[in-house]
Amino acid sequence: MYLHDSQPAREALIRGQVRNDRLQLLFRQSFFSVFGSALAAIMLSWICWERLEHSLILWWLGLLGASTTLRLIMLTTYFRMPETARTPERWEPVYWITLVLSAGIWGGGALALMQAGDLLIQTLVLLFAVGMTVSAVSCYSAYRSMTLVSIALVLLPCSLWLLFQPQTAQQGMAAASLIFATFVVSATRKLCRAMERAFRLSREMEHAHGIADHAAQTDELTGVKNRRAFFHRAERAYDTCKRSRLPLCALMLDIDHFKRINDCHGHQAGDDVLRQIGRVICQSVREGDVCGRLGGEEFALVLANTTLEAAHAIAEKLRQAIADITCQHDEGVTASLGVAALSDTDQDVHALLGLADKALFRAKASGRNQTAVA
Ligand code: GH3
Ligand code: MG
Ligand code: MG
Repeated sequence: MYLHDSQPAREALIRGQVRNDRLQLLFRQSFFSVFGSALAAIMLSWICWERLEHSLILWWLGLLGASTTLRLIMLTTYFRMPETARTPERWEPVYWITLVLSAGIWGGGALALMQAGDLLIQTLVLLFAVGMTVSAVSCYSAYRSMTLVSIALVLLPCSLWLLFQPQTAQQGMAAASLIFATFVVSATRKLCRAMERAFRLSREMEHAHGIADHAAQTDELTGVKNRRAFFHRAERAYDTCKRSRLPLCALMLDIDHFKRINDCHGHQAGDDVLRQIGRVICQSVREGDVCGRLGGEEFALVLANTTLEAAHAIAEKLRQAIADITCQHDEGVTASLGVAALSDTDQDVHALLGLADKALFRAKASGRNQTAVA
């Protein structure tokens, strides 16, 4: 997957993953902030209870309770969904709606409390609004636009209202909170960029690791596993099947008279044949099968959970598919195969492949282009 991705496709993939990462962070950080914002409203109401009209406070708390419930439903639905359904396309708009709703209610209510109260109430409300702004910065750090909108909805109405009040103290508080808001706005830009860069770097590293890993395990010419990776995977499949008492077969494949193709048509033609055979093998194997190039024109397969009869049928299908390959040169290409099944007597996958190799030798001796069973 990694090696064949084009640069634009890879870039698009990384961009999508980064967007997913940001969404995940947003939802993870939101859980506590939802409770935090409700708690702040309750505390503010409690402090102002004696000095303000109770119906106003109760209305505000009621609306906030409804929007908090809505956000909690959204969060629990999101976390219950399978990972594949948590897409930004689906969840970003939903999040935006609940964000605007709850920040709007918070900001609108704060403004109403401020208008109904005296200077002490106004100071308290402004302090709480500033606190909410700080919490928005930490909660929506991956989404700058969300931070800005929540500042605009929570802090701006109170600050602007205060700015046009007659008392110098009121105007001073408004100016201070507006200056604070500009600092926050500039800090969110840096924070959001740093966050995006961190996500991008970690995804790019993941991809680079994938490419290096794939290259280290793959035979460049044929696309199947190289010798080292083949034996590593084959040993694991062998151990698993032996432990679980499942059938397993090994299959050795060698191209017939391959040297002749090289000698008559050149190494390029030989390489082309190897490439085509690699493609045929990749297309024939099932998920869980292990196939590799052991060297030269020799390939091996380990078929987990496969009986000898099934392995023989697979080998024959493979042999036929190779015989059907059309080559650059006019002569056809054939291969001989040897098949062996796991038994209680063999020690390891190398011994099993040795048995398959012996069968392959018999197939060669009997005239090539055939499958022999150990
Ligand atoms: P047999 O039917 O008995 O298997 O005969 P053969 O000619 O296929 O076997 P032999 O072992 O005599 O020759 C294998 C040849 O494969 C020799 C070597 O030059 C060639 N070969 C090995 N690796 C490569 C490769 O990567 N590319 C090409 N083009 N040829 C290769
Ligand atoms: Mg050969
Ligand atoms: Mg050979």
